[in-house]
Amino acid sequence: MKTAPTPATWFDGLSAEAQKVWLILEGPDLVLQGAEGEVARYPAAALAWATPTGAPRPVLALPDGGQLVLAGTGDAAALGIAAVPASIVERAGRSRVAATGCLAGLVAMIVAAAIWLVPAFESLAKQHLPWRVEAQLGLEVLRALDRSTLRQTELAENVRRPIARRFDATATVAGLRGARLEFRGGGALGANALALPGRIVVVTDELVRLLADDAMIDAVIAHELGHLHHRHILGRIVGESAYAMLVAAVLNDHSIVSSIASRAPPLVVQAIHSRDDERESDAYAFDLLRRTGGTPEDFARAMQALQRAHGSAPESGGWLSTHPPTPERIEAARAAK
Ligand SMILES: [Zn+2]
Repeated sequence: MKTAPTPATWFDGLSAEAQKVWLILEGPDLVLQGAEGEVARYPAAALAWATPTGAPRPVLALPDGGQLVLAGTGDAAALGIAAVPASIVERAGRSRVAATGCLAGLVAMIVAAAIWLVPAFESLAKQHLPWRVEAQLGLEVLRALDRSTLRQTELAENVRRPIARRFDATATVAGLRGARLEFRGGGALGANALALPGRIVVVTDELVRLLADDAMIDAVIAHELGHLHHRHILGRIVGESAYAMLVAAVLNDHSIVSSIASRAPPLVVQAIHSRDDERESDAYAFDLLRRTGGTPEDFARAMQALQRAHGSAPESGGWLSTHPPTPERIEAARAAK
C-alpha cells in the first residue's frame, strides 16, 4: 500500500537548513522523497506528532531528532499516521468549560491574595525587610519626587541648621537611628511634610515659612516620625507592589512590574495614609513631644495655622488634605494634654 505524495518541510536535526520533501507512506515505512529520489526512510511506528494533528502546521517528530513540518491540517489526515492522543492539558485548552473554570480559579486566587497575602506581605516587610533594601527604596522614592514634584530648597543655611539639629535630637529620643531630614521646595505640594521609607522626612520650605515657630515645626516633624516608627508608607508600598507582582506573575504581564517603581511617589504624596495611620501617628507625636520638651498644644497650634492658611477649604491641598478632619485632630491634641 502506498499513499499519494504529501508535501512537507524537512529539518534533518543536523543542520538548520530546511529541505522540501514529499512524504509517501509505503507499507510500514514513511519515505521522504527529494527532487532526486528517496532521501530518508523511517518506520512509521517510530514517528510521533509533536503538535496536535489539528494544528495549522502539524509537526511530526522523527526518531533521529529531525522534524517534518506539514503544510496543512488535511495533509496530516492524508498521511494516515495514527495521532497521539491529546494530553489532558491540550484537551483542557480546547474545552470552554475547562477554560471558564481556569479563569474563575484565577480570579479566586487574585481575590484571595488581596485578602490574605497582601496584608501578610505588608507585615512581613515591616518586620523583616532588610534595612539596606528599605534605605535604597527611600532614596529611589526621593529621587523620583525630586524629578517630578519637589524643588531645591531656598531656605538659608541658618534657618535649616537649627531645625535639623532638633530633628536629630528628637529622632534619637524616638530611637529612630539613621533618620534624616531633607529640605525641599514643595512645588505643587505647598506647605507639606512627608515620611518616606528609609527613615527620610521631607519638610517643604513653604511649611517652614508658614509655621515660623520652632515648636510648631517640631510638632509636625514628630507626627512624621510617628509614620516612620510605625512604618506606614513602607507597608503601603510593599503591599501595593506585592499585589501587582502577583498579578504580573499570574498573568505574565511585565508592564505591571515596571509600573511599580513609578507608583511609589504618588503613593507617598496622595491620600496614602488611612485615618487609622494618622491617628496612630498623632498619638505617637503627642507622646514624643512630651518626652522632648514640647506639648501636644504645639501640634494643635500647627494644625490651626495650616487650617488658616488653607482658608475656607481647610481639607483641600497641602498637609491637611491627606489627613482626617482637622478640628477632630486639634481636639484630640488638646485632650492629650
Ligand atoms: Zn500623616
